[in-house]
Parts: sequence; C-alpha cells; structure tokens
Amino acid sequence: MNNLNSTSLVNQIDQLLPQTQCGQCGYKGCKPYAEAIVRGETEINRCPPGGQQGVERLASLLGVSVLPLNVPFDSEYMPQQAIIDEAHCIGCTRCLSPCPVDAIIGANKQLHTVLVEECTGCGLCLKDCPVDCIVLVPATIAFDPAQSRKRYQAKSVRLAIQEQAKVERMEKQKQLLAKIKSAKTADT
Ligand code: SF4
Ligand code: SF4
Ligand code: SF4
Repeated sequence: MNNLNSTSLVNQIDQLLPQTQCGQCGYKGCKPYAEAIVRGETEINRCPPGGQQGVERLASLLGVSVLPLNVPFDSEYMPQQAIIDEAHCIGCTRCLSPCPVDAIIGANKQLHTVLVEECTGCGLCLKDCPVDCIVLVPATIAFDPAQSRKRYQAKSVRLAIQEQAKVERMEKQKQLLAKIKSAKTADT
C-alpha cells in the first residue's frame, strides 16, 4: 500500500472510531490505533467504547471477518464525564497534562474545572490527582467526536512543537558547553 492510500485508510478508520481518546485499545488515542490497524499490528476488536457495532463497521470497511469485542472485563461501555470536587481541588495542575483533549481548565494554585461538553469520559485525569477529587459520572451531554478529534490533534501538534523546542534547547546548551570547554582548554 502506498503512503497516500495508507493515510486515506487511516483517516477512514479514524472516522469510525469513537474519539474517546481513552487508550484502552493499547494506543495513545484513536488515530494511533487506526495507524496500528493499517500496519497490521493489532486487531479491529480492541476498542471498548466502539463496542461490537464498532468492530462490525471496521470489518465492513476493511473487508475482513467480524471478531468478538476484546474487552478486559464483562461490562457494557457507558458514556461518562469527569467532574472535579472544587471544594477539595488544591490547584496542583497535575490533571491538565493527561487530558487528551484539553477539557480541563485551571492554573497553578487555582481551582480546576472540567469543560463538560469537551470531556470524553476517558478517565485519564483521575490517576494523577493527589487528593482524589475527580470522579467519573454518567454523561449528561454527548461529546462531539469531530470536535474531540480536532482537540486531540491540536494537543498532539502542540506537544510535538514543545518536544522539538526542548530538543533544540538541549542541543544549543550542548554546543555552548562544548564552546566553553574548548575555550578553557585553549587558555591552559
Ligand atoms: S476510543 Fe479509546 S479504545 Fe477506542 S480507539 Fe479511541 S483510544 Fe482506542
Ligand atoms: S477531563 Fe478527564 S475524563 Fe474528561 S477528557 Fe479530560 S482526561 Fe478524559
Ligand atoms: S489533579 Fe486534582 S487537585 Fe490537582 S488541579 Fe487537578 S483536580 Fe485539582
């Protein structure tokens, strides 16, 4: 498969995925899972939020056999959303980074809150809260998968730019240290 066809297939698969960005498939979001399917690295039945219907849609797109949904527990997926108990939030900001769609707003030492309409209910913010003040509750609003895809992509791009800037900063520091070292050697 050439790159163009492969990108197009990744996008078609991604369109069928729920965009919860929860990582339960073993990948860091829906698009990475779609890419792994196209590489032949994983099966089409690893997405609990997509359910058995999701597996069937993927099988139909790819012209392969339907598989039973592979989930680690025997329970039906329920749409959820996170809420923060603001009375206990200490403003540590630790929940901001794990949120794949930037659905939490807040700043250092200030109360944090969840943008309910953007929250996919992935639950990734819960584990980093030192005071356990984030809980998942049944969703009252259905998130928009297209919006979630956009926010996930925007965050991925931002993280890639930050990572690139970090690499460049470290490279500059390395070059500066090498110059200082070489100047000191020349002086002796
Ligand atoms: S919804 Fe979760 S499990 Fe399904 S593909 Fe997206 S990241 Fe993976
Ligand atoms: S607020 Fe929490 S549950 Fe909601 S999308 Fe962000 S990480 Fe997931
Ligand atoms: S991790 Fe918990 S305590 Fe820290 S800012 Fe987020 S909700 Fe507040």
